[in-house]
Amino acid sequence: MMEWYIGNQTIFKEDMNMAYAINDDCVSCGACESECPQSCISQGDGKYVIEASSCVDCGSCADVCPVSAPQKA
Ligand code: SF4
Ligand code: SF4
Repeated sequence: MMEWYIGNQTIFKEDMNMAYAINDDCVSCGACESECPQSCISQGDGKYVIEASSCVDCGSCADVCPVSAPQKA
């Protein structure tokens, strides 16, 4: 089983059935990129994008986003 550790939380990949995805509301401010513990957010074409296979569903990107663009996919 694959595991990730975020702070004192252990997250098991099999327990997760969603990743976050950034919608078209993104204004490319970049605030979320440095918050991601998986470094799976990068600047895309016109908006930032999340590498879904690496996302551990922590919600940190949504917490810092000024326009609530990261949503559970
Ligand atoms: S939910 Fe967490 S792991 Fe997934 S992209 Fe956002 S900050 Fe990164
Ligand atoms: S914090 Fe929100 S608006 Fe800024 S780059 Fe990330 S998703 Fe886009």
